[in-house]
Amino acid sequence: GAPFDAHDPLGIDDLLTDEDRAVRATVRRWTAERILPSIADWYERGELPGIRELARELGSIGALGMSLTGYGCAGASAVQYGLACLELEAADSGIRSLVSVQGSLAMYAIWRFGSEEQKERWLPRMSAGEVLGCFGLTEPDIGSDPGAMRTHAKRDGTDWVLNGRKMWITNGSVAGVAVVWARTDDGIRGFVVPTDTPGFSAPEIKHKWSLRASVTSELVLDEVRLPADAVLPGATGLRGPLGCLSHARYGIVWGSMGAARASFEAALDYAKTREQFGKPIGGFQLTQAKLADMAVELHKGILLAHHLGLRMDAGRLRPEQVSFGKLNNVREAIEICRTARTILGANGISLEYPVMRHATNLESVLTYEGTVEMHQLVLGKALTGLDAFR
Ligand code: FAD
Repeated sequence: GAPFDAHDPLGIDDLLTDEDRAVRATVRRWTAERILPSIADWYERGELPGIRELARELGSIGALGMSLTGYGCAGASAVQYGLACLELEAADSGIRSLVSVQGSLAMYAIWRFGSEEQKERWLPRMSAGEVLGCFGLTEPDIGSDPGAMRTHAKRDGTDWVLNGRKMWITNGSVAGVAVVWARTDDGIRGFVVPTDTPGFSAPEIKHKWSLRASVTSELVLDEVRLPADAVLPGATGLRGPLGCLSHARYGIVWGSMGAARASFEAALDYAKTREQFGKPIGGFQLTQAKLADMAVELHKGILLAHHLGLRMDAGRLRPEQVSFGKLNNVREAIEICRTARTILGANGISLEYPVMRHATNLESVLTYEGTVEMHQLVLGKALTGLDAFR
């Protein structure tokens, strides 16, 4: 048989096509050149400098709206999109967040629910990375229960007038277009808001200790007047935003394993070279137990992501299955990063190594796109038929 590969102990690579591997190699090369040399510095400064240039480069490698078709999108498979998310998040969750929000939330909302005119107007420039998008669902007082949102849109003649606030919005301050969800007389609707519309502002949220190399913002909507055709015609009710979130969560199932892989590899390298009591710490049984358990969860998680990807490509992925993957993989990823941190000892808390950065990033990933508890409730409801949300 093939020799044991410490980086792929289950032989998951055998499940990939040549094209899958090519996509993965392209994204990995890009992160090695453009993200890894600078990410610790950006993280420390709490900035993502050159985000517009990075977005254009991501567009040129086909990473924006990657699994969408038409309008300049790459039309990649779900597995290929997942592999890209894994590679991006192995660099930093903030970079993967930029791509998830652009492709799976903002672009996906327009692609799935938009009019032909909205698609033509926005998607080609968004897939090229010339225009960034954001997705405004969460509010200062409304998180897990978006059906209770307060932001509202009222008719004035044929126009719409939006008022309200959104909070924790990724890419908010750098976006040229915001997909904003608001309450209307006909239930929750999505609006495509050019961010230069009078009354719209997006102050950046500072002082984050997680996802520091990612732009996070508040959206303020103060009498934002939009034409009749700003509403997404295909989405009424929570089904709209939840459909987008399911797509983005699928990317997180893969992405979280990227953060875990980077931390595992840092710990494995370290364990083989760091010596205490006269031998490499990787030679102690307690360290080996950690490494073995980390490898088991890492590769189980990747296998799960691949399984869900094949289901998505076959059009058979259920939202409960996405919850299954998001719940497991993010929870295991953060555990892997924390264990890696212990193997690195004091060096584990330094930005010289990626593990603490990944661990703190994953605190956000654990919460956004549905908290751990929400996904437990989704699965609990599916298993029992009993709704425990309220
Ligand atoms: P809450 O909903 O207030 O929950 C607090 C705690 O209570 C959680 O542990 C939760 O699980 C628990 N809880 C709530 N209800 C129940 C219940 N019924 N049973 C048991 N436990 C419960 N949002 C966007 O719309 N767009 C974005 O681009 C975006 N980007 C983000 C970026 C970052 C860095 C972060 C941190 C968040 C982002 N979010 C974004 C917001 C994110 O989606 C919300 O934080 C998330 O939905 C949780 O909402 P909340 O923080 O208000 O927590």
